[in-house]
Amino acid sequence: MSPQRSGPQAAVIQHLNFIRGEWIPSSGGARYSIRNPARPEDCLGDFADSTEVDAAAAVDAAAAAAQAWADTPGPHRGAVLFRFSQLLEDSKNELARVVTLEQGKALGEAVGEVVRAAAEARFMAGEASRGAGHTFPSDRPGTSCYTVSEPLGVVAAICPWNFPVVTPVRKIAPALAFGNAVVFKPSSLTPWSAVYLMQLLAKAGLPAGVVNLVTGRGSVVGDSLVRDPRVRGVTFTGSTEVGTHIYEQAARRLSRVQLELGGKNPAVVIDHADLDGAAREIVAAAFLCSGQRCTAISRVIVSDGQADMLVERIVSHVDRIKVGDGLDPETTMGPLVSEGQLRSVDRYVRQGVESGCALLAGGHALAENPARQGYYYAPTIFDRVPADSPLATEEIFGPVLPIVRVRDLEEGITIANSTRYGLAAAVFTSRLSYVHEFISRVQAGMIHVNHGTASQAHVPFGGVKDSGQGAYSIGPTAREFYTNAKAIYVRW
Ligand code: NAP
Repeated sequence: MSPQRSGPQAAVIQHLNFIRGEWIPSSGGARYSIRNPARPEDCLGDFADSTEVDAAAAVDAAAAAAQAWADTPGPHRGAVLFRFSQLLEDSKNELARVVTLEQGKALGEAVGEVVRAAAEARFMAGEASRGAGHTFPSDRPGTSCYTVSEPLGVVAAICPWNFPVVTPVRKIAPALAFGNAVVFKPSSLTPWSAVYLMQLLAKAGLPAGVVNLVTGRGSVVGDSLVRDPRVRGVTFTGSTEVGTHIYEQAARRLSRVQLELGGKNPAVVIDHADLDGAAREIVAAAFLCSGQRCTAISRVIVSDGQADMLVERIVSHVDRIKVGDGLDPETTMGPLVSEGQLRSVDRYVRQGVESGCALLAGGHALAENPARQGYYYAPTIFDRVPADSPLATEEIFGPVLPIVRVRDLEEGITIANSTRYGLAAAVFTSRLSYVHEFISRVQAGMIHVNHGTASQAHVPFGGVKDSGQGAYSIGPTAREFYTNAKAIYVRW
Protein backbone atom coordinates (compact mmCIF):
# COMPACT_ATOMS: atom_id res chain seq x y z
CA MET A 1 0.00 0.00 0.00
CA SER A 2 1.32 3.47 -0.82
CA PRO A 3 1.52 6.04 1.93
CA GLN A 4 -1.97 7.43 2.43
CA ARG A 5 -2.51 11.15 2.28
CA SER A 6 -5.55 12.11 4.29
CA GLY A 7 -7.13 14.40 6.82
CA PRO A 8 -6.56 14.16 10.58
CA GLN A 9 -7.09 10.78 12.27
CA ALA A 10 -7.73 10.10 15.95
CA ALA A 11 -5.04 8.52 18.15
CA VAL A 12 -2.37 8.47 15.47
CA ILE A 13 1.09 9.68 16.46
CA GLN A 14 1.96 12.80 14.51
CA HIS A 15 5.56 13.35 13.49
CA LEU A 16 6.90 16.66 12.21
CA ASN A 17 9.78 18.00 10.17
CA PHE A 18 13.01 18.81 11.99
CA ILE A 19 14.24 22.22 10.90
CA ARG A 20 16.68 24.53 12.73
CA GLY A 21 16.57 22.16 15.69
CA GLU A 22 12.78 22.42 16.06
CA TRP A 23 9.93 20.07 15.26
CA ILE A 24 7.55 21.89 12.93
CA PRO A 25 4.59 20.93 10.73
CA SER A 26 4.66 21.30 6.96
CA SER A 27 3.82 24.80 5.75
CA GLY A 28 0.51 23.68 4.26
CA GLY A 29 -0.33 21.57 7.33
CA ALA A 30 -0.78 18.47 5.15
CA ARG A 31 0.13 15.05 6.53
CA TYR A 32 0.21 11.48 5.34
CA SER A 33 0.12 8.15 7.14
CA ILE A 34 2.30 5.06 6.85
CA ARG A 35 1.28 1.45 7.46
CA ASN A 36 2.87 -1.73 8.70
CA PRO A 37 3.58 -3.96 5.65
CA ALA A 38 3.01 -7.04 7.83
CA ARG A 39 -0.46 -5.73 8.85
CA PRO A 40 -1.44 -3.03 6.38
CA GLU A 41 -4.54 -2.11 8.35
CA ASP A 42 -2.31 -0.85 11.18
CA CYS A 43 -1.48 2.83 10.80
CA LEU A 44 1.95 3.57 12.30
CA GLY A 45 1.79 7.34 12.37
CA ASP A 46 1.30 10.58 10.49
CA PHE A 47 4.13 12.54 8.90
CA ALA A 48 4.51 15.96 7.33
CA ASP A 49 3.54 15.95 3.65
CA SER A 50 5.94 18.78 2.94
CA THR A 51 6.05 21.37 0.19
CA GLU A 52 8.71 23.29 -1.72
CA VAL A 53 8.42 25.96 0.99
CA ASP A 54 9.45 23.44 3.66
CA ALA A 55 12.35 22.22 1.55
CA ALA A 56 13.52 25.81 1.10
CA ALA A 57 13.16 26.49 4.86
CA ALA A 58 15.33 23.47 5.59
CA VAL A 59 17.98 24.68 3.15
CA ASP A 60 17.79 28.15 4.80
CA ALA A 61 18.47 26.52 8.17
CA ALA A 62 21.32 24.39 6.84
CA ALA A 63 22.90 27.34 5.01
CA ALA A 64 22.73 29.45 8.18
CA ALA A 65 24.38 26.71 10.28
CA ALA A 66 26.96 25.56 7.72
CA GLN A 67 29.81 28.01 8.37
CA ALA A 68 29.90 27.59 12.15
CA TRP A 69 29.89 23.82 11.74
CA ALA A 70 32.65 23.99 9.12
CA ASP A 71 34.67 26.12 11.55
CA THR A 72 34.17 23.62 14.38
CA PRO A 73 37.45 21.69 14.78
CA GLY A 74 37.34 18.25 13.18
CA PRO A 75 37.97 16.35 16.45
CA HIS A 76 35.00 18.19 18.04
CA ARG A 77 32.77 17.24 15.10
CA GLY A 78 34.05 13.70 15.52
CA ALA A 79 33.11 13.74 19.21
CA VAL A 80 29.47 14.43 18.31
CA LEU A 81 29.57 11.50 15.87
CA PHE A 82 31.13 9.19 18.46
CA ARG A 83 28.25 10.05 20.81
CA PHE A 84 25.76 9.49 17.99
CA SER A 85 27.32 6.11 17.24
CA GLN A 86 27.03 5.12 20.91
CA LEU A 87 23.39 6.28 21.02
CA LEU A 88 22.66 4.09 18.00
CA GLU A 89 24.19 1.11 19.80
CA ASP A 90 22.28 1.90 23.00
CA SER A 91 18.95 2.19 21.20
CA LYS A 92 19.47 -0.63 18.73
CA ASN A 93 16.54 -2.74 19.93
CA GLU A 94 14.06 0.11 20.01
CA LEU A 95 15.14 1.58 16.68
CA ALA A 96 15.23 -1.88 15.06
CA ARG A 97 11.61 -2.34 16.09
CA VAL A 98 10.73 0.89 14.28
CA VAL A 99 12.57 -0.39 11.18
CA THR A 100 10.71 -3.71 11.27
CA LEU A 101 7.35 -2.03 11.79
CA GLU A 102 7.67 0.39 8.89
CA GLN A 103 9.90 -1.56 6.48
CA GLY A 104 9.00 -5.17 7.29
CA LYS A 105 12.41 -6.88 7.58
CA ALA A 106 12.97 -9.52 10.27
CA LEU A 107 13.87 -7.98 13.64
CA GLY A 108 17.31 -9.65 13.77
CA GLU A 109 18.16 -8.10 10.41
CA ALA A 110 16.92 -4.73 11.63
CA VAL A 111 19.15 -4.94 14.74
CA GLY A 112 22.05 -5.81 12.42
CA GLU A 113 21.26 -2.75 10.33
CA VAL A 114 21.39 -0.42 13.34
CA VAL A 115 24.64 -1.96 14.60
CA ARG A 116 26.12 -1.56 11.13
CA ALA A 117 25.01 2.07 11.04
CA ALA A 118 26.73 2.64 14.40
CA ALA A 119 29.95 1.15 12.98
CA GLU A 120 29.81 3.41 9.93
CA ALA A 121 29.17 6.47 12.12
CA ARG A 122 32.13 5.46 14.33
CA PHE A 123 34.42 5.18 11.32
CA MET A 124 33.36 8.64 10.14
CA ALA A 125 33.83 10.07 13.65
CA GLY A 126 37.49 9.05 13.31
CA GLU A 127 37.73 10.48 9.79
CA ALA A 128 36.92 13.90 11.22
CA SER A 129 40.33 13.89 12.94
CA ARG A 130 42.34 12.62 10.00
CA GLY A 131 44.35 14.87 7.70
CA ALA A 132 43.42 14.99 4.07
CA GLY A 133 45.75 17.39 2.29
CA HIS A 134 49.04 16.90 0.45
CA THR A 135 52.26 18.87 0.44
CA PHE A 136 54.21 19.42 -2.78
CA PRO A 137 57.80 20.40 -3.52
CA SER A 138 57.79 23.93 -4.93
CA ASP A 139 59.57 24.96 -8.15
CA ARG A 140 60.23 28.39 -6.56
CA PRO A 141 62.64 28.86 -3.64
CA GLY A 142 61.05 30.09 -0.42
CA THR A 143 57.55 28.92 -1.36
CA SER A 144 55.41 26.13 0.10
CA CYS A 145 52.64 24.37 -1.81
CA TYR A 146 49.94 22.25 -0.20
CA THR A 147 46.28 21.38 -0.37
CA VAL A 148 43.56 21.34 2.25
CA SER A 149 40.08 19.83 1.96
CA GLU A 150 37.05 21.94 2.73
CA PRO A 151 33.36 21.07 3.12
CA LEU A 152 30.99 21.66 0.21
CA GLY A 153 28.49 23.59 2.36
CA VAL A 154 24.91 22.30 2.22
CA VAL A 155 24.37 18.71 1.13
CA ALA A 156 21.02 17.06 0.34
CA ALA A 157 20.70 13.38 1.30
CA ILE A 158 17.87 11.55 -0.50
CA CYS A 159 17.28 7.97 0.62
CA PRO A 160 15.28 4.84 -0.28
CA TRP A 161 13.19 2.63 2.00
CA ASN A 162 15.10 -0.64 2.10
CA PHE A 163 17.71 0.41 4.69
CA PRO A 164 16.02 3.30 6.50
CA VAL A 165 18.78 3.60 9.11
CA VAL A 166 22.07 2.60 7.53
CA THR A 167 21.62 4.51 4.26
CA PRO A 168 20.89 7.88 5.91
CA VAL A 169 23.73 7.35 8.40
CA ARG A 170 26.04 6.47 5.49
CA LYS A 171 25.30 9.93 4.10
CA ILE A 172 24.79 12.08 7.18
CA ALA A 173 27.83 10.85 9.17
CA PRO A 174 30.48 11.64 6.51
CA ALA A 175 28.73 14.89 5.61
CA LEU A 176 29.03 16.00 9.24
CA ALA A 177 32.51 14.59 9.76
CA PHE A 178 33.83 16.71 6.90
CA GLY A 179 32.02 19.86 8.05
CA ASN A 180 28.87 20.02 5.88
CA ALA A 181 25.29 20.86 6.86
CA VAL A 182 22.58 18.46 5.70
CA VAL A 183 18.97 18.39 4.53
CA PHE A 184 17.69 14.82 4.69
CA LYS A 185 14.72 13.57 2.66
CA PRO A 186 13.84 9.96 3.55
CA SER A 187 11.66 7.63 1.47
CA SER A 188 7.95 8.35 1.89
CA LEU A 189 7.55 4.75 3.05
CA THR A 190 10.04 4.91 5.95
CA PRO A 191 10.02 8.36 7.59
CA TRP A 192 9.72 7.03 11.16
CA SER A 193 13.31 5.77 11.37
CA ALA A 194 14.34 9.18 9.99
CA VAL A 195 12.56 11.00 12.82
CA TYR A 196 14.28 8.69 15.31
CA LEU A 197 17.71 9.44 13.79
CA MET A 198 17.10 13.19 14.18
CA GLN A 199 16.29 12.66 17.86
CA LEU A 200 19.56 10.78 18.38
CA LEU A 201 21.62 13.42 16.54
CA ALA A 202 20.07 16.19 18.66
CA LYS A 203 20.77 14.14 21.80
CA ALA A 204 24.38 13.69 20.65
CA GLY A 205 24.76 17.48 20.82
CA LEU A 206 24.64 18.45 17.15
CA PRO A 207 23.98 22.20 16.90
CA ALA A 208 20.57 23.30 15.58
CA GLY A 209 20.29 23.54 11.80
CA VAL A 210 23.30 21.36 10.99
CA VAL A 211 20.95 18.47 10.15
CA ASN A 212 17.38 19.04 8.98
CA LEU A 213 14.68 16.54 8.07
CA VAL A 214 11.91 17.16 5.54
CA THR A 215 9.48 14.31 4.91
CA GLY A 216 7.19 14.10 1.90
CA ARG A 217 7.14 13.26 -1.76
CA GLY A 218 10.28 12.85 -3.81
CA SER A 219 8.73 14.67 -6.74
CA VAL A 220 8.09 17.70 -4.50
CA VAL A 221 10.63 17.81 -1.66
CA GLY A 222 13.40 15.83 -3.38
CA ASP A 223 13.08 17.75 -6.60
CA SER A 224 13.18 21.15 -4.82
CA LEU A 225 16.33 20.17 -2.96
CA VAL A 226 18.03 19.02 -6.14
CA ARG A 227 17.15 22.29 -7.91
CA ASP A 228 18.11 24.61 -5.02
CA PRO A 229 21.32 26.47 -5.99
CA ARG A 230 22.44 26.60 -2.35
CA VAL A 231 22.68 22.79 -2.25
CA ARG A 232 26.25 22.08 -3.40
CA GLY A 233 26.09 18.30 -3.25
CA VAL A 234 23.32 15.75 -3.72
CA THR A 235 23.90 12.27 -2.37
CA PHE A 236 21.18 9.93 -3.58
CA THR A 237 20.47 6.23 -3.15
CA GLY A 238 17.58 4.77 -5.07
CA SER A 239 16.48 3.63 -8.49
CA THR A 240 18.48 4.22 -11.64
CA GLU A 241 15.49 6.06 -13.14
CA VAL A 242 15.19 8.66 -10.37
CA GLY A 243 18.98 8.85 -10.08
CA THR A 244 19.28 9.71 -13.77
CA HIS A 245 16.67 12.45 -13.39
CA ILE A 246 18.57 13.88 -10.40
CA TYR A 247 21.85 13.77 -12.32
CA GLU A 248 20.26 15.79 -15.16
CA GLN A 249 18.79 18.37 -12.78
CA ALA A 250 21.98 18.75 -10.76
CA ALA A 251 24.07 19.08 -13.93
CA ARG A 252 22.16 22.25 -14.86
CA ARG A 253 23.74 24.05 -11.93
CA LEU A 254 26.96 21.98 -11.78
CA SER A 255 26.19 20.52 -8.37
CA ARG A 256 28.22 17.51 -7.33
CA VAL A 257 26.28 14.23 -7.19
CA GLN A 258 26.83 10.84 -5.66
CA LEU A 259 24.41 8.23 -7.02
CA GLU A 260 24.02 4.73 -5.59
CA LEU A 261 21.57 2.96 -7.85
CA GLY A 262 20.12 -0.39 -8.83
CA GLY A 263 21.83 -3.71 -9.42
CA LYS A 264 21.41 -7.15 -11.00
CA ASN A 265 24.14 -8.87 -9.11
CA PRO A 266 25.37 -12.20 -10.45
CA ALA A 267 26.79 -15.15 -8.53
CA VAL A 268 28.83 -17.25 -10.94
CA VAL A 269 29.43 -20.83 -9.77
CA ILE A 270 31.95 -22.94 -11.65
CA ASP A 271 34.30 -25.73 -10.62
CA HIS A 272 33.57 -25.15 -6.94
CA ALA A 273 34.37 -27.75 -4.31
CA ASP A 274 31.86 -26.60 -1.66
CA LEU A 275 28.48 -26.39 -3.38
CA ASP A 276 26.57 -26.51 -0.12
CA GLY A 277 28.54 -23.54 1.21
CA ALA A 278 27.93 -21.68 -2.05
CA ALA A 279 24.19 -22.42 -1.90
CA ARG A 280 24.00 -21.17 1.69
CA GLU A 281 25.80 -17.92 0.87
CA ILE A 282 23.72 -17.38 -2.28
CA VAL A 283 20.40 -17.95 -0.54
CA ALA A 284 21.31 -15.59 2.31
CA ALA A 285 22.48 -12.88 -0.10
CA ALA A 286 19.43 -13.34 -2.35
CA PHE A 287 16.63 -13.42 0.23
CA LEU A 288 17.76 -11.17 3.11
CA CYS A 289 15.40 -8.18 3.34
CA SER A 290 13.07 -10.23 1.07
CA GLY A 291 15.49 -9.61 -1.80
CA GLN A 292 14.98 -5.85 -1.51
CA ARG A 293 18.68 -5.02 -1.34
CA CYS A 294 20.63 -3.24 -4.06
CA THR A 295 23.45 -5.74 -3.55
CA ALA A 296 21.22 -8.83 -3.33
CA ILE A 297 22.39 -11.73 -5.48
CA SER A 298 19.66 -11.58 -8.10
CA ARG A 299 20.85 -14.15 -10.64
CA VAL A 300 22.86 -17.35 -10.40
CA ILE A 301 25.01 -18.30 -13.37
CA VAL A 302 26.18 -21.88 -13.05
CA SER A 303 28.12 -24.27 -15.26
CA ASP A 304 26.11 -27.16 -16.75
CA GLY A 305 28.39 -29.62 -14.96
CA GLN A 306 27.48 -28.36 -11.46
CA ALA A 307 23.99 -26.94 -12.09
CA ASP A 308 21.84 -29.89 -10.92
CA MET A 309 23.81 -30.32 -7.69
CA LEU A 310 23.80 -26.59 -6.90
CA VAL A 311 20.10 -26.11 -7.72
CA GLU A 312 19.12 -28.98 -5.42
CA ARG A 313 21.05 -27.38 -2.56
CA ILE A 314 19.66 -23.89 -3.22
CA VAL A 315 16.10 -25.25 -3.13
CA SER A 316 16.82 -27.07 0.10
CA HIS A 317 18.15 -23.88 1.78
CA VAL A 318 15.19 -21.87 0.47
CA ASP A 319 12.77 -24.43 1.96
CA ARG A 320 14.10 -23.47 5.40
CA ILE A 321 13.17 -19.78 5.05
CA LYS A 322 10.36 -18.85 7.45
CA VAL A 323 8.23 -16.06 6.05
CA GLY A 324 6.22 -14.02 8.54
CA ASP A 325 5.83 -10.85 10.56
CA GLY A 326 9.32 -9.49 11.18
CA LEU A 327 8.54 -9.09 14.89
CA ASP A 328 7.97 -12.84 15.26
CA PRO A 329 11.27 -14.37 16.48
CA GLU A 330 10.74 -17.41 14.20
CA THR A 331 10.63 -15.23 11.07
CA THR A 332 13.65 -15.21 8.78
CA MET A 333 12.01 -13.27 5.93
CA GLY A 334 9.46 -10.50 6.35
CA PRO A 335 6.90 -9.06 3.93
CA LEU A 336 7.66 -6.83 0.96
CA VAL A 337 7.57 -3.15 1.80
CA SER A 338 4.36 -2.22 -0.04
CA GLU A 339 1.53 -3.43 -2.19
CA GLY A 340 3.17 -1.74 -5.21
CA GLN A 341 6.35 -3.75 -4.62
CA LEU A 342 4.31 -6.96 -4.27
CA ARG A 343 2.51 -6.34 -7.56
CA SER A 344 5.72 -5.48 -9.36
CA VAL A 345 7.43 -8.69 -8.14
CA ASP A 346 4.38 -10.75 -9.09
CA ARG A 347 4.37 -9.27 -12.62
CA TYR A 348 7.93 -10.52 -13.17
CA VAL A 349 7.04 -13.92 -11.81
CA ARG A 350 3.95 -14.25 -14.06
CA GLN A 351 6.11 -13.27 -17.07
CA GLY A 352 8.66 -15.92 -16.11
CA VAL A 353 5.99 -18.61 -15.82
CA GLU A 354 4.37 -17.61 -19.12
CA SER A 355 7.70 -17.65 -20.94
CA GLY A 356 8.29 -21.27 -19.84
CA CYS A 357 11.05 -20.89 -17.23
CA ALA A 358 11.10 -23.81 -14.77
CA LEU A 359 9.50 -22.67 -11.49
CA LEU A 360 11.17 -24.67 -8.69
CA ALA A 361 9.84 -22.84 -5.62
CA GLY A 362 7.32 -20.14 -4.68
CA GLY A 363 5.83 -18.08 -7.47
CA HIS A 364 2.95 -16.48 -5.57
CA ALA A 365 1.87 -14.10 -2.84
CA LEU A 366 1.29 -15.84 0.49
CA ALA A 367 -1.81 -14.01 1.69
CA GLU A 368 -5.16 -14.27 0.00
CA ASN A 369 -5.75 -10.60 0.61
CA PRO A 370 -2.33 -8.94 0.97
CA ALA A 371 -3.84 -5.49 1.57
CA ARG A 372 -5.31 -6.86 4.82
CA GLN A 373 -3.03 -9.74 5.74
CA GLY A 374 0.41 -8.49 4.72
CA TYR A 375 2.56 -8.20 1.61
CA TYR A 376 4.10 -11.63 1.91
CA TYR A 377 5.64 -13.30 -1.13
CA ALA A 378 6.97 -16.86 -1.27
CA PRO A 379 10.73 -17.17 -1.92
CA THR A 380 10.82 -17.99 -5.62
CA ILE A 381 13.35 -19.85 -7.77
CA PHE A 382 13.35 -20.21 -11.53
CA ASP A 383 15.72 -22.60 -13.32
CA ARG A 384 16.80 -22.67 -16.98
CA VAL A 385 16.16 -18.96 -17.40
CA PRO A 386 17.36 -17.52 -20.74
CA ALA A 387 20.14 -14.99 -20.13
CA ASP A 388 18.25 -12.26 -21.96
CA SER A 389 14.90 -12.76 -20.18
CA PRO A 390 13.63 -9.86 -18.00
CA LEU A 391 13.97 -12.21 -15.01
CA ALA A 392 17.72 -12.37 -15.64
CA THR A 393 18.36 -8.79 -16.73
CA GLU A 394 16.03 -6.46 -14.82
CA GLU A 395 16.15 -5.47 -11.17
CA ILE A 396 13.14 -7.21 -9.59
CA PHE A 397 13.90 -6.14 -6.00
CA GLY A 398 12.08 -9.04 -4.39
CA PRO A 399 12.54 -12.67 -3.32
CA VAL A 400 13.04 -14.07 -6.82
CA LEU A 401 16.18 -15.92 -7.89
CA PRO A 402 16.65 -16.85 -11.56
CA ILE A 403 19.21 -19.51 -12.47
CA VAL A 404 20.99 -19.36 -15.82
CA ARG A 405 22.99 -22.39 -16.99
CA VAL A 406 26.19 -21.86 -19.00
CA ARG A 407 28.91 -23.93 -20.70
CA ASP A 408 31.98 -22.42 -19.09
CA LEU A 409 33.55 -19.42 -17.35
CA GLU A 410 33.86 -17.50 -20.60
CA GLU A 411 30.10 -17.64 -21.20
CA GLY A 412 29.46 -16.98 -17.49
CA ILE A 413 31.50 -13.75 -17.55
CA THR A 414 29.87 -12.60 -20.80
CA ILE A 415 26.41 -13.06 -19.25
CA ALA A 416 27.49 -11.50 -15.93
CA ASN A 417 28.45 -8.38 -17.91
CA SER A 418 25.38 -8.38 -20.15
CA THR A 419 23.06 -6.16 -18.07
CA ARG A 420 23.04 -2.37 -17.70
CA TYR A 421 24.10 -2.72 -14.05
CA GLY A 422 27.49 -3.10 -12.38
CA LEU A 423 27.07 -3.03 -8.61
CA ALA A 424 28.24 -6.27 -6.92
CA ALA A 425 29.26 -9.66 -8.31
CA ALA A 426 30.26 -12.94 -6.67
CA VAL A 427 32.18 -15.94 -7.93
CA PHE A 428 32.30 -19.33 -6.28
CA THR A 429 35.16 -21.43 -7.59
CA SER A 430 38.06 -23.50 -6.32
CA ARG A 431 40.30 -22.52 -9.23
CA LEU A 432 42.69 -19.65 -8.56
CA SER A 433 42.98 -18.76 -12.25
CA TYR A 434 39.17 -18.41 -12.48
CA VAL A 435 39.18 -16.10 -9.45
CA HIS A 436 41.61 -13.72 -11.11
CA GLU A 437 39.95 -13.98 -14.52
CA PHE A 438 36.65 -13.03 -12.86
CA ILE A 439 38.12 -10.16 -10.83
CA SER A 440 39.80 -8.62 -13.85
CA ARG A 441 36.97 -9.00 -16.36
CA VAL A 442 33.69 -8.57 -14.48
CA GLN A 443 32.19 -5.08 -14.63
CA ALA A 444 31.17 -4.33 -11.04
CA GLY A 445 32.07 -1.94 -8.26
CA MET A 446 32.41 -4.74 -5.71
CA ILE A 447 33.62 -8.32 -6.26
CA HIS A 448 33.15 -11.14 -3.73
CA VAL A 449 35.08 -14.38 -4.02
CA ASN A 450 33.58 -17.48 -2.40
CA HIS A 451 31.12 -15.50 -0.33
CA GLY A 452 27.87 -13.59 -0.76
CA THR A 453 27.58 -9.92 -1.60
CA ALA A 454 27.90 -8.53 1.95
CA SER A 455 29.88 -5.30 2.38
CA GLN A 456 31.77 -4.06 5.44
CA ALA A 457 31.51 -0.81 7.39
CA HIS A 458 34.88 0.66 6.40
CA VAL A 459 35.39 -0.57 2.82
CA PRO A 460 34.43 1.59 -0.21
CA PHE A 461 30.98 0.85 -1.59
CA GLY A 462 29.66 1.73 -5.04
CA GLY A 463 28.87 0.63 -8.56
CA VAL A 464 29.74 1.19 -12.22
CA LYS A 465 27.62 1.41 -15.39
CA ASP A 466 23.99 2.20 -14.49
CA SER A 467 24.59 1.26 -10.83
CA GLY A 468 26.29 4.44 -9.74
CA GLN A 469 28.00 7.71 -10.36
CA GLY A 470 30.45 9.75 -8.32
CA ALA A 471 32.70 8.86 -5.39
CA TYR A 472 32.12 5.57 -3.58
CA SER A 473 30.60 5.86 -0.12
CA ILE A 474 31.77 4.18 3.10
CA GLY A 475 35.38 4.19 4.21
CA PRO A 476 38.07 6.59 3.05
CA THR A 477 36.59 7.35 -0.41
CA ALA A 478 33.60 9.13 1.18
CA ARG A 479 35.74 12.25 1.64
CA GLU A 480 35.98 12.68 -2.16
CA PHE A 481 32.30 13.49 -2.40
CA TYR A 482 31.90 15.67 0.68
CA THR A 483 34.91 17.97 0.26
CA ASN A 484 36.59 20.31 -2.19
CA ALA A 485 40.35 20.56 -2.41
CA LYS A 486 41.93 23.99 -2.09
CA ALA A 487 45.50 24.44 -3.39
CA ILE A 488 47.63 26.93 -1.46
CA TYR A 489 50.94 28.63 -2.38
CA VAL A 490 52.79 30.48 0.41
CA ARG A 491 55.91 32.58 -0.21
CA TRP A 492 57.84 33.07 3.05
P1 NAP B 1 13.32 5.53 -5.66
O1 NAP B 1 11.93 5.38 -6.07
O2 NAP B 1 14.33 5.92 -6.68
O3 NAP B 1 13.31 6.61 -4.46
C1 NAP B 1 14.47 6.94 -3.75
C2 NAP B 1 14.28 8.30 -3.10
O4 NAP B 1 14.17 9.29 -4.12
C3 NAP B 1 13.02 8.41 -2.26
O5 NAP B 1 13.27 9.21 -1.14
C4 NAP B 1 12.06 9.11 -3.22
O6 NAP B 1 11.01 9.79 -2.56
C5 NAP B 1 13.01 10.08 -3.89
N1 NAP B 1 12.54 10.63 -5.15
C6 NAP B 1 11.58 10.15 -5.97
N2 NAP B 1 11.42 10.97 -7.04
C7 NAP B 1 12.29 11.99 -6.89
C8 NAP B 1 12.60 13.14 -7.65
N3 NAP B 1 11.99 13.43 -8.79
N4 NAP B 1 13.57 13.97 -7.21
C9 NAP B 1 14.22 13.71 -6.05
N5 NAP B 1 13.96 12.63 -5.28
C10 NAP B 1 13.01 11.77 -5.69
O7 NAP B 1 13.90 4.20 -4.98
P2 NAP B 1 13.22 3.30 -3.87
O8 NAP B 1 12.07 2.58 -4.48
O9 NAP B 1 12.98 4.11 -2.65
O10 NAP B 1 14.41 2.28 -3.54
C11 NAP B 1 14.67 1.15 -4.30
C12 NAP B 1 15.80 1.40 -5.27
O11 NAP B 1 16.95 1.86 -4.57
C13 NAP B 1 16.25 0.15 -6.00
O12 NAP B 1 16.43 0.43 -7.36
C14 NAP B 1 17.59 -0.17 -5.35
O13 NAP B 1 18.48 -0.89 -6.15
C15 NAP B 1 18.11 1.18 -5.04
N6 NAP B 1 19.11 1.11 -3.98
C16 NAP B 1 20.44 1.25 -4.31
C17 NAP B 1 21.42 1.15 -3.33
C18 NAP B 1 22.89 1.30 -3.66
O14 NAP B 1 23.66 1.54 -2.74
N7 NAP B 1 23.31 1.17 -4.90
C19 NAP B 1 21.05 0.88 -2.01
C20 NAP B 1 19.70 0.73 -1.71
C21 NAP B 1 18.73 0.85 -2.70
P3 NAP B 1 9.58 9.06 -2.35
O15 NAP B 1 9.82 7.91 -1.45
O16 NAP B 1 8.77 10.12 -1.75
O17 NAP B 1 9.12 8.64 -3.71
